[in-house]
Amino acid sequence: MKIFQYLFKLGPIVILSAFLACATVPITERRGLSLVPEGQPLSMSFQQYGEVLKKSKLSEDPAKVEMVKRVGDKIARAAEEFMRESGMESEIKNYKWEFNLIEDDKVVNAWCMPGGKVVFYTGILPITRDENGLAVVMGHEVAHAIAKHGNERMSQGLLAQVGGIGLSLALSREPAITNQIFMAAYGVGAQVGVLLPYSRLHEREADRIGLVLMARAGYDPREAVPFWERMNEEGKGKRPPEFLSTHPAPETRIKEIQSFIPEAMKYYRGE
Ligand SMILES: [Zn+2]
Repeated sequence: MKIFQYLFKLGPIVILSAFLACATVPITERRGLSLVPEGQPLSMSFQQYGEVLKKSKLSEDPAKVEMVKRVGDKIARAAEEFMRESGMESEIKNYKWEFNLIEDDKVVNAWCMPGGKVVFYTGILPITRDENGLAVVMGHEVAHAIAKHGNERMSQGLLAQVGGIGLSLALSREPAITNQIFMAAYGVGAQVGVLLPYSRLHEREADRIGLVLMARAGYDPREAVPFWERMNEEGKGKRPPEFLSTHPAPETRIKEIQSFIPEAMKYYRGE
């Protein structure tokens, strides 16, 4: 019922969608909890994150690296404040925030593993364009993490690929496949050969919470509209960005984001 608790804090409009979420989320969450116990994704995350960094070339552009870390730190502080106010204070200790920028201009992507392990690829920077645009993606990814959407996707992935056995059993029987499912569940996506698109419900939640987080961190939530317009434009090209292959972006998304902005503006003190 955590989802209900923090959605409730967002404001009256959200209450309706929280009821809608409650109609579907508890069922999938119950299944999620049985396949993926709390804690295990955390230790997997810390290990897998280290592996990704070891295999990748980190950006050596100090201005860009600092920007990713600065935005990350601000959004993380906003997320912790948000968790504290939403009755999730006991979970804050699980987050060991880390923000890294991987040098790969061909990968238009960003993701956040459990425990706040975040990666941006340099390929997404031309689309985020500036610090505010970067905060749109950071807020969205951190929102997925604190809402634990990955946990649920991980369960769906286990169900589809190894027959719904628990995470520890799957890890002992099929470690390679289970690790791939884990990576895909947290948005690493096409690079590991398994795609698990986020559901509309998860996307809507991450957009809405992400806007609140960026606003609380001092970034203008209205920038989310031009960011998603630029991302959609990029999606019309020959090679759709990876971010769009896990994040379906129909026209209705921008309309929904516009409807969430007044709520986020209540937290924005930038003007
Ligand atoms: Zn998303």
